[in-house]
Amino acid sequence: MKPNQIRTIVTIIISLLLASALYNFFGPLFSKPPKDVSISEIAKDYQDGTIDKINLNNDEILATLKDGTKLKAYKEQGISLVKYGITPDKVDINVKNPDSGAFWPTFLSVILPFLLIGGFIYFMLRQAQGANVKAMSFGKSTARLAGLKNKTTFNDVAGLKEPKEELMEVVEFLKSPGKFKLIGAEIPKGVLLVGAPGVGKTLLARAVAGEAGVPFFSISASEFVEMFVGVGASRVRDMFNKAKRNAPCVIFIDELDAIGRQRGAGLGGSHDEREQTLNQILVEMDGFETDTRVIILAATNRPDVLDPALLRPGRFDRRVVLSLPDKKERVEILQIHMRNKPVEKSVDISRVASNTVGMSGADLKNVVNEAAILAARKGQKTITELNFMESVEKVTLGPERRSKVMSNEEKKIAAYHESGHAIVGKALKLDESLQKVSIISRGMALGYTWSMPNEDRYMRSQEDFENDIAQLLAGRVAEKMIFNKLTTGASNDLERATKIAKDMVQVYGMSEAIGPVVVAQRDELVFLGRELGEHKVHSEKMAALIDSEVEKVILESEKKAKNILTHDKTKLKKLAELLLKKETIEHDELEKII
Ligand code: ADP
Ligand code: MG
Ligand code: ZN
Repeated sequence: MKPNQIRTIVTIIISLLLASALYNFFGPLFSKPPKDVSISEIAKDYQDGTIDKINLNNDEILATLKDGTKLKAYKEQGISLVKYGITPDKVDINVKNPDSGAFWPTFLSVILPFLLIGGFIYFMLRQAQGANVKAMSFGKSTARLAGLKNKTTFNDVAGLKEPKEELMEVVEFLKSPGKFKLIGAEIPKGVLLVGAPGVGKTLLARAVAGEAGVPFFSISASEFVEMFVGVGASRVRDMFNKAKRNAPCVIFIDELDAIGRQRGAGLGGSHDEREQTLNQILVEMDGFETDTRVIILAATNRPDVLDPALLRPGRFDRRVVLSLPDKKERVEILQIHMRNKPVEKSVDISRVASNTVGMSGADLKNVVNEAAILAARKGQKTITELNFMESVEKVTLGPERRSKVMSNEEKKIAAYHESGHAIVGKALKLDESLQKVSIISRGMALGYTWSMPNEDRYMRSQEDFENDIAQLLAGRVAEKMIFNKLTTGASNDLERATKIAKDMVQVYGMSEAIGPVVVAQRDELVFLGRELGEHKVHSEKMAALIDSEVEKVILESEKKAKNILTHDKTKLKKLAELLLKKETIEHDELEKII
């Protein structure tokens, strides 16, 4: 019996008991109680012939008169009614068997409590046992098995041509290992999929299993480590056992960096647990026979923080890099996600794709979905190009917040701020086109200037970075030039500009004073827990030099922005005034003004 069935039964029994108790208490109150009389009165009524029937229960006489009145009397023990002149031929006399009718009361009062207590104990035991079972299964892996239901194949993955080619090898090995064994080739046990979030790592791993037609075990690395110490390692063991039983198959460990970070940092309580889990993974991977047809795929977007032990030959020695899609690939990804949606034939997918530079596969999927939602909200039957354009905007810039009310003063400042961004951007960045400038709140920003590179870019020069910084600072410069004051509106711009400047100096070696060396960034090292171990990354002198170099880059770019805006002050005013009037200015009109 299931626990909830037992619960129902117990509930029913208890309610029955309650009902009978209530009846015993209150029952007599509802029916009129019989009148207590003497036995001679009943004998007299009998003589008068007014009695309808008599119930005899031991010595209690219950007489019902013809008019319905009930009388009650007691007779002496062991003396028949006949002694009082009452015979059964004139009225009905029912003599109650003293033994019958005693069954239910006895049952209820004697057996039922036992039954209830027994049921209760049984119930408690079941519960305790359930908890036990749960405790035991903590060590079991929570890997989800997507068996043969997994129909994802390489056809569902657009672009990613090289990664697919590299993984084809793995697929072939899973399908027909003989070919490889014959020639003595060893197939990698572990393949690391590296790429930014949303480029399709999980999708590709699933497709490998689907393409080979083998089961797919997926687990997120963070699931290994839970509340209890030691669980992680035993989960790893369990997962590998499960996989070996199901070979050939694919194990997929998502977000490997959650446990695969470099050891030895010695920080935080979860650290030991992580280390044990990681060790167990290494042990299991080494313990694999080469002919075990289990392939381990793992995904991460931070390969730089992984423990070197994970990456050495025999473990995750293959690395497949997934990069953000270029324009052609974006077209393909869009097409895949448009497959089951009623998209109007006139939609120019390549135009949509050129407006989505820098988006990942996941972003593109989101674009198609948002477009469908927009179309549905407007009650359209098909999705139009306009829907796609609006959706691209929403995905890149966040939803509009028209309800946010700015005062006139604030609006004016925002208009000049955004115009500053637009004019400097237009002047410096020849490879980008301005899509839209607006002072309607969007996401976190009070206004926005949206520009889009004309082509995909793979390399950035020092000048590109300086131009980026100049454009970011231009909003602030315009505010200061026109109103001669500074506002908080520019804080996000400053943050981003500083980040770019720091990268230029510390990562890309673009500062002459420091030269072509990477000077690691402190926050990064604290994240790895390495800085504490090595005490200090660089000297105070170096730190001061970095700071001054960063400042120099920023000040120079600011000067650039200032020059442009001073030169184009009339344009700035014109654009800002128009922006105040129209709130949003689109590409074509912008081209005319600037
Ligand atoms: P990651 O694991 O790299 O963060 P996912 O594989 O989870 O990214 O991708 C999220 C979603 O984005 C996928 O489910 C898929 O729908 C879509 N997607 C990403 N890349 C592609 C691609 N190359 N082709 C088709 N769809 C893609
Ligand atoms: Mg993923
Ligand atoms: Zn700004």
